[in-house]
Amino acid sequence: MITDAHGRTFRNLRVSLTAACNYACTYCVPDGKRLLPAKHELSGTELVRAVELLIRVAGIDKVRVTGGEPLLSPKIEEFFPAVMKLGLKDVSLTTNGQLLTRKADMLLDAGIRRINISLDTLDPTAFREIARSGDLSTVLAGIDRMAEAGVRVKINMVPLRSANFDQILPLLDYCLERGYELRFIELMKMGHLRAGNQFSRDFIGMDELLETIATRHEYARTDAPFDSTAVRFEIPGKGTFGIIANETEPFCATCTRLRLSSNGKLYGCLSNTKSHYLPPILALPDVEAEVELATLLSQALADKQPVRFQGEWTVMKFIGG
Ligand code: SAM
Repeated sequence: MITDAHGRTFRNLRVSLTAACNYACTYCVPDGKRLLPAKHELSGTELVRAVELLIRVAGIDKVRVTGGEPLLSPKIEEFFPAVMKLGLKDVSLTTNGQLLTRKADMLLDAGIRRINISLDTLDPTAFREIARSGDLSTVLAGIDRMAEAGVRVKINMVPLRSANFDQILPLLDYCLERGYELRFIELMKMGHLRAGNQFSRDFIGMDELLETIATRHEYARTDAPFDSTAVRFEIPGKGTFGIIANETEPFCATCTRLRLSSNGKLYGCLSNTKSHYLPPILALPDVEAEVELATLLSQALADKQPVRFQGEWTVMKFIGG
């Protein structure tokens, strides 16, 4: 196992199936940018080969399929069932849910057990303003379909002062009533948010979120796995929620995440533009590929921040959330 000076290893792999997305969320991409696939995206077969090698060499035991929008890519049909068969401890999917009903049978046939759906508001007008596309009722129908089939649902919300502050409690109640775990993601200073005042205008930190929640619910902090990105809370008798508090309580010290972009670049850290190009290794015979990959992984592990997320020009859609 490849370990750094802080005792960190790679255990969680996030695979971005495509950089293309059917949304253009205001905090993810700047105005007027179309969300296209990256140049030279890897095929489904190449991505599966990459995951197999990363399991063997890095000791990856959890994979999250993300994007861009993973359900937009035809590769999902090959990639997801194949990854489900690799004997991993956990495989999950992060999606905006717009195509979930259409892809539900395929995901269920492949054995999906967990899904994270991004949903920033229950207000249809605000939904269109934030995502600049899509339809709220279609997403809600997709979520229902997954839950009815027994899939464990988590909802991801990015609270934004100017766009969905009033949705913190409605979304929490929506989730508590249905047994879903809501994850508030503190806004991250990525891509175009590094410049201008959009980040400081919209950022809502954990303390303010908790103050807002306290107006309706009593809660207590509860356990989370050692390498979890979320701080978790229990509302007795009602359910749990989490906060991914990358600014308020950085989790770099215990980060075990590795990211593979859709064009074959490995990223050891979300807060570092350095990447390591994987495709030449995929074509090598197994033994050689494993030796070369071990070198690449040591370099990628050295890219991690020692303490806290610094922000980065990288856009989330390229390397997956
Ligand atoms: N399209 C899929 C989705 O919507 O879930 C997967 C990709 S998306 C980039 C993954 C997650 O990253 C979403 O929950 C999105 O809200 C979040 N995200 C994107 N940009 C962000 C930012 N600057 N700060 C915090 N979260 C962000």
